[in-house]
This record gives sequence, structure tokens and C-alpha cells, in this order.
Amino acid sequence: MAHPSDSPEIQDQDAKQALEKLKKTFESFSRPIDLILFAYPAEDNPFTQAIRQVIRAFRQITDKITFREFSLDHELARKYNVAYSPTLVVAPERYQIHWIGAPMGEEGRTFLEMLMLVGRGDSGLSQQSRTVIARIAEPRDVKVFVSPSCPYCPQEAVNALRAAVEAPDRIRLEIIDIQCQPEIADEYEAHSVPQAFANDVQIGLGAQSEEVFCASLLKLEPQTIFIPESDAELVETDVVIVGGGPAGLTAGIYTVRSGLKTAVIEREALGGQVATTPVVENYPGFTQVGGKTLVDILVTHALEYVQIFQGEEVVDITPGEPIVVQTSRRKFKTRTVILATGASHRQLGAPGEKRLAGRGVSYCATCDGPLFRGRRTIVVGGGDSAVTEALFLQNMGVEVTIVHRRDRLRAQAHLVKNLEDAGIPVIWDSEVEEILGRDRVTAVRLVNRKSGEKQELAVDGVFVSIGYVPTVGLAEKIGVALGEDGYIARDARHRTTVAGIYSAGDVEGGYKQIVTAAGQGAEAAMSVFEDLVNPYWKREG
Ligand code: NAP
Repeated sequence: MAHPSDSPEIQDQDAKQALEKLKKTFESFSRPIDLILFAYPAEDNPFTQAIRQVIRAFRQITDKITFREFSLDHELARKYNVAYSPTLVVAPERYQIHWIGAPMGEEGRTFLEMLMLVGRGDSGLSQQSRTVIARIAEPRDVKVFVSPSCPYCPQEAVNALRAAVEAPDRIRLEIIDIQCQPEIADEYEAHSVPQAFANDVQIGLGAQSEEVFCASLLKLEPQTIFIPESDAELVETDVVIVGGGPAGLTAGIYTVRSGLKTAVIEREALGGQVATTPVVENYPGFTQVGGKTLVDILVTHALEYVQIFQGEEVVDITPGEPIVVQTSRRKFKTRTVILATGASHRQLGAPGEKRLAGRGVSYCATCDGPLFRGRRTIVVGGGDSAVTEALFLQNMGVEVTIVHRRDRLRAQAHLVKNLEDAGIPVIWDSEVEEILGRDRVTAVRLVNRKSGEKQELAVDGVFVSIGYVPTVGLAEKIGVALGEDGYIARDARHRTTVAGIYSAGDVEGGYKQIVTAAGQGAEAAMSVFEDLVNPYWKREG
């Protein structure tokens, strides 16, 4: 969708400039990028067609890409160990990278990044990550499962691509599109994306920061945190904004426009919850817009002003003058911090939920919905998210029933009407007592809160959509006070109880709408500006 203020002429100009920049980047590559497609001879499936189309488009702007196509029974397929159609083998003389499926949707970003990495012949990994990869002695057979509608997937796939380019002798990579090859996902019980495996061991569930991915690859088990060694880079700023959702990005636009040197740090996908909201219908100026489209517009706007450090995790903040912000990659010395850390999915707490997460239990219908086409699922919850996700799933051909603990939905009347019109059944007054299944979800046991009656429902997927809990781990670590409700306590100017630390967005509680988060971000930014001109902690102290 177009930015509302862009005229077609401006868009055209922007596109031409971007194309010229891309051409120049390809020209700078010293080596050709050899792409080999393996597909069944007579096959004309949409994935094979999509690969051909994407490669054709790139070959129109550069002669650095060479392209050959062979049948799956060709001897080269045996040489490169190709077993699935379609598979794209990437620069096999230098790397061991296979792409199984097609670079559609969100994966287009990964594909472009892959061409850049292979063309440059440099992984672009941080020094910290290079050190970790250098410690890997034995070969790693890496698989990353992705889907075209998953905004978190490019981050994990690019982590793996960087590792494969860094250590081509030891790291073999397969990027697997679960839509194209659901049977490989079934074999690995990978029913949510992204998921990463190395030597058949799961090393990542969800997108990881680059350093955490590399550490997980080294240790062959998922790591949760990476503290860089002391020689990490140092950046000085006026404001560090933690979180790249609507609140953080809006705050960044405002602080930079006020002349403050600013960094936005986001460990996962930009846009926060909005990135996985199928449709947004209440953001002013847009009658109806895809959540990811809205995020793309917001990010493009923010990038005009502010530097964004994406895929990087803030691991510690030390208050003071300056405040020191330690991330998984570097250190920031800053005068102020805005915590716009948002909220994360609330969990049911039912037996089976944790064990079967990624194996039928999902918290993201947009990401994982494609795996459940034609299968039976439930969405648990009765709010706006549950109803929006149920409508989305039904639209994509998933059989869906809502399970709600009361006899009335909490969702907006407009959404409830859409739900009724779509004929999606609701099981009222019921809670999930247990999620059942050995290696994957096969059923749920529900209990009726009024009658106490229990029933077992055979399902393949459970989408948990019961609201959010504020992400306050960092705030608590610094000593920022929380309110009784668990959200950050702050004054009318978004100042927390710690000098120089502010908050914005869903982490503050309140209405939790995209428009209110953006408003809170703008307010916090203006407070920061005013306080830096005349610091309240000195004025009042
Ligand atoms: P929510 O409004 O807090 O609703 C959570 C739902 O889950 C409620 O129906 C609640 O039941 C149920 N629930 C909570 N804990 C439960 C448990 N342990 N077991 C079973 N059910 C449980 O959360 P949300 O729907 O994610 O929405 C969050 C915010 O985002 C809201 O402000 C919403 O307006 C906004 N949002 C807006 C849109 C939109 O406008 N299109 C879309 C998505 C989200 P009870 O009803 O019994 O409390």
C-alpha cells in the first residue's frame, strides 16, 4: 500500500533510485553468483514458477547472476545431495546453501540479503559472532524452517546464511519453506516458524539475535542470552529507545527531529504485535490495512530519521550519567532511555502447552496459519486478537472454532458481527484443561466452567490468543517501579521512577491500541527533549 503522502511521481522516483542503488551494489561484487535450480522436469508448480520469476527479475538488473536449471534426476542433483523439488543451490563452488521452496512474501527480503552476502563473499557477522563461529570444530547441518507470511523468519534465516557464508567448510544450510514442503516440517515436528535445527537438534524456536543464534549453533542447544566480550563497540547517543514497535519508532522520529542523537534497538521483528496482526481497521487514515503493510510504512518513515539496531538484544542497563546500555553486540553510552518494550503473549499455563509449543501450539496465526490449511484448530480467547485471528485462519482454509471462558466475547461489536457472518463456531464458558499429544498436538481437553463437564476435542492446532503480559524484565532489573497491575509506573510525562529512564506504549498499560502507542511514543520523546534541555533530576534534586 502506498504512503498516503506519496504522489505516484515521487514513488516512481524512489523506485528508480532504489533500483540504481541495487545495480551499483551488484556491480561492486567481485564474483558471480551461480544459482542452480533443481525441479521435476514437467513440474509447473507455483513455487518453481516463483523462483524462475524472481531470478529473471534480478538478472534483468545484473549480469553477476548466472542461472542454470536441471531435472531432479540429473547427476548434479546427486552430487549436491538435492532430494526435493524445487531446490535452489546457491554458489556451490563456494558455499553449501540450499533453498527448498521459493522466496515469496517475507522471504523476498531473505533472498535479497542472501544475494548480497554471497556476492560480497563476506558474512557481515559481528566480531563477537565471528569469534563464536570460529570455535565450531565439527560440521553443522543446519535447517531453518520459514513461511512467506512470517515477519520473524528473515531474521533467523539471515543469521543462518551469515554463518554458512562465514564457515562454508563446516556449515551446510537448508532454508525450508513449510508451505512448499510441509512433510519435512512434519518430520521435524516443526509446526511453528521460524525454527532452526543443527545436526537434527532444535537450536532455535522463534527469531534469535545473531549472537544468540551463533552461540546456539556452537553449543547445539538453544541459548537465551549472549554477553559480548569487553572489546565490543561503543556508541554515544542522547537517547536509546528499547523496542521497535509503533511507540518506539514514533519516539525515534520525534527525538531525531528534535536534534537528539538516537538509537532504536529491537531484538525481534520491527513493528511488535502489529507485524503479525492480519488486518488493522482502526488506525486513522487507513480503512483497512494489513498489519505488516502498516509496519513497513512506519519503518520506512522512521528510517528516514533514526538508526535502528535490529536483531540486537538489550541485556543490561546501568543507570547513571551517562546511562550504559549493554546489548548482545555493543555498548551505548546515553543520556536517556525510553523503554518501549511492549508486551508478550500471555500463556495459558495448561499442561502440554510448553511441551507442544511449536508442535501445534502457536501464538502467531499469521506466521503458522499456512501449516494448518485443511486441519482442525481452536483459537483460545474472546478479545479482538482472538476474533481477528480466527477470521484470518478461516479465510486461509483452516477449520477453526473459538474456545472462550465466558458466555460473551470481549471483542469489538464490529469484529463479533464479522465472526457471526463467517459462521465460526464458539464453545462458550469453557477453558482448556490440557493440551494432548505425544510429539504433536492431537486433542484438547476442555472443561465447562458452569457445568464442570469435560470434553475431548480432536484438533491439530491450538492458537493461544488470550492477551499480553508487559515485557518488564529490563525495567525490573534497573529498579524501575511497576504499578499494581504489573505495568511500568510513570508520571504524566512518561518519566519512570529512575532518573533519565522513560516509558512508552503497551508496557505502560492503558488502551493498547496502535494509535495510542504511537501517541505515547511521541509524548515520551517530547518529554525527553524538554528534560535534556532542562533536566528534571537536577532541577528537582
Ligand atoms: P484482551 O483484550 O486482553 O483479551 C484477552 C481475552 O483472552 C479475553 O477474552 C479473556 O477472557 C481471555 N483470557 C485471558 N486470560 C485467559 C486464560 N487464562 N484462559 C482463557 N482465556 C483467557 O487481549 P487481546 O485480544 O490480545 O487484545 C489486546 C489489546 O490489543 C486490546 O486492547 C485490543 O483492543 C487490541 N487489539 C485490537 C485489535 C483491533 O482493533 N483489530 C486487534 C487485536 C488487538 P475474558 O473476556 O473473560 O477476560
